[in-house]
This record gives sequence, C-alpha cells and structure tokens, in this order.
Amino acid sequence: MKLHEYQAKEVFRKSGIPVPNGVVVASTDEVDGVIRQINGPPWVVKAQVHAGGRGKGGGVRVAHSPDNVKTATMDILSHPLVTKQTGPEGKKVLRVLIEEGAEIEGEYYLAMVMDRSKARPVMIFSPAGGMDIEEVAEKTPGLVQREHVNMQVGWMPYQGRTLAYRLNPQPGPDTLKELMAVMDKLYHIFIDYDCSLVEINPLVITKQGRVLAVDAKMDLDDNALFRHKDMRGLADPMEKDPLEREADKYGINYIRLEGNIGAMVNGAGLAMATMDVIKMAGAEPANFLDVGGGASEEMITKGFEIITRDERVKAILINIFGGILRCDVLARGVLAAAKKIEIRVPLIVRLEGTNVEEGRRILEESDLEFLVAKDMAEAAELVAKQG
Ligand code: GDP
Ligand code: MN
Repeated sequence: MKLHEYQAKEVFRKSGIPVPNGVVVASTDEVDGVIRQINGPPWVVKAQVHAGGRGKGGGVRVAHSPDNVKTATMDILSHPLVTKQTGPEGKKVLRVLIEEGAEIEGEYYLAMVMDRSKARPVMIFSPAGGMDIEEVAEKTPGLVQREHVNMQVGWMPYQGRTLAYRLNPQPGPDTLKELMAVMDKLYHIFIDYDCSLVEINPLVITKQGRVLAVDAKMDLDDNALFRHKDMRGLADPMEKDPLEREADKYGINYIRLEGNIGAMVNGAGLAMATMDVIKMAGAEPANFLDVGGGASEEMITKGFEIITRDERVKAILINIFGGILRCDVLARGVLAAAKKIEIRVPLIVRLEGTNVEEGRRILEESDLEFLVAKDMAEAAELVAKQG
C-alpha cells in the first residue's frame, strides 16, 4: 500500500525525521488560510499523486507570493498530471500539499528497500539526489552506496558512518550527526511499519546546514497490513486502476498489464505459466487474473466482465484446470457474462479437469463463438494469431 507524500511526511514527523511545515488542501479556497500558517515566501506547491517525477511534469512549483501559491494550486488541481510514471493520460490531482520552501544547499538520495536476492533490507545513499536514481545507478554506479542490514543486530551506527563519511566534500559535524540520525530513524520506520520501501529523494542539506526530508515515499507490505489497522485508512482507492478497484470489490486477483491478450485462469501458478506461454507465442498479456480455486459463478462472471471492459484487449484466453473450481461452473459464469456484455473479440478456451465434459457441452450448446484449444501449446498458437 503506497502512501501519499503528505501521509509519509506525517509518519516521518512522528518518528523524528525533519520535514518542512505543510498543509494539504483540496481546493483553492483553502489557500488563504493555509498561507497564514506556513512560513514563506517561498512556498512549495506539490501535487499529491502516487507517481514520481512530479517536478519535471509541473507538479511541484516554487511560489514567491500568495497569489502565485493560489494560481499554482488552481493550475495543478485543474489538469491531470503527466509524468514519466503516469502514462500519457496522466493522473487526476485531488490534493495539493503547500509547504514552507527550503533553501537548498545540496540534494541527496536516501532509501531503504528490501534486497530480495540477499534477503535483507538495504540502505541506499547517494550524493546525486533529486534525480532519477535508476539513471544515476546505471550511468554513475560509483555515486550509489549500499549498506545491507543484518537483521540479527539491526542497523548499526558504524554503517551510518560508512555512508556519511564517504561524502566529499564533508558536511560539518552537526550536519553529519543529523544525517546519521535520519538513517537510523529511516531504518526504524521501515521495520516498524513493515515497509517494502521508504525513500527520501531528495533529502536536502539546507543553507543553514540542517538535514530535511523534502520528499517522502512509503510503500507498506500489503501482507503485513493486518498489523497496522490504523494505517489502512490512508489507502487511496482513487490511485488504483479502475478495473483493479472493481476486481478488489469481488476478491478477484486481477492486475492490469500493458499487452492486449486478456487471460482468465484459475490458480496463481497456472496464471503465471499462461502469461509465459502468451509471451513465448510472441504476444503480450493484458492482465494477470487468477479467479482462485473456489471461484463462484458470480466471480467468474465478474472476472470475465472486467477483462472485456479493458478496451485494449484483442483476444481472450480462458485457461482452466478444473480442480475445486469445476469446469461447468466456469462455463456458466462465462455465459452469464456474455449475456450482459457483447463480446467483440475472439475467445480461446482450454478446459481440463473436473466436469470438463459438462463444461464443454454448456459452451457448445450456447451461441457463444469460441475456439477450443486442446492443450497449452495450441492455445498459445491460437493466441498468437489474434494478437
Ligand atoms: P518529485 O519530482 O515527484 O520526486 O518531487 P520532489 O518532491 O522530489 O520535488 C522535485 C524537486 O523540486 C526537488 O528535487 C527540488 O529540487 C525541488 N524542490 C522541492 N521542494 C523544494 C523547496 O522547498 N525549495 C526548493 N528550492 N526546491 C524544492
Ligand atoms: Mn522526489
């Protein structure tokens, strides 16, 4: 579960990581009241969406007068924000964070993420902050430092020194101390909130020599959310893809992807194998959809409806191995969906397992048009022809 910048900064504030004073608003009417509470000029006006690269996309503005704050807020709220991470259609901005502007001396990158290959969290630190860190890592890998955490002892003070003392030129001793304290707190936030990512880009050193988190990103592991009931309310359903949001309501595991072959599969393993098969056939999956072992007819109907509502889908592959989910239930679910919505794309069906005869009969006796694949290889071949 991703947090918005203003929500992550609230966590930082509570944990003692210094952040600029700020207030979040949802309309320009609130701006006058806010400006009186927040020191400026300058003020910084920031779009609150779950996407990076806002600065370059016009979603972060430095304003030098209350009027500038107002026009910036109005402007940001009235257009979808397009950044490298949003896709060309952009993201609708519903909230704007207005903050006290910092006088920046230097921008740094600091994050803690899970390094899956080493099965340990890793602290990443770079003096090349405020930029696209993936690009920095690729072009100037020497500028990205890493310290892995041994979970038996946690984050150690010497690790903070290892990262901070490599800086050249060296900041003053008080600044270094603050920097190392931020690293320590970042680690504790990462652990306490069961995060998969906590990122500050940029972490700045101000002209006054203070360390300040100017940006904040937090991603909480969904599987640990049961331990953080108080955080659940921070989820923003508007940030989700509308089709994924719909799937969530019915407990369907659906993830929208970039391709154009819709897939309805039961079981996560078979669903992943099916995506591989689609790719190996030279096509691209439009989604991951695992209807689950014990899916009801209603869930099948809903799942099928969601796939067909994705306007990029050019063909649909149904790949079911009937175990607990019986093939006849699947067939009835698909027919129920076909009654509600017109299916304008070719349908390829591969059914095996429990009640397969009954399932096939139901489909054949319907007026639904579909192609039958006898196995995965044939299914792939048929898919490739449609894509
Ligand atoms: P992002 O582009 O979505 O990552 O948004 P950021 O919050 O990182 O802001 C982008 C850039 O705006 C930063 O790298 C800074 O250079 C600049 N910026 C953000 N806050 C301030 C501020 O308080 N003062 C100044 N001068 N620049 C800021
Ligand atoms: Mn940033």
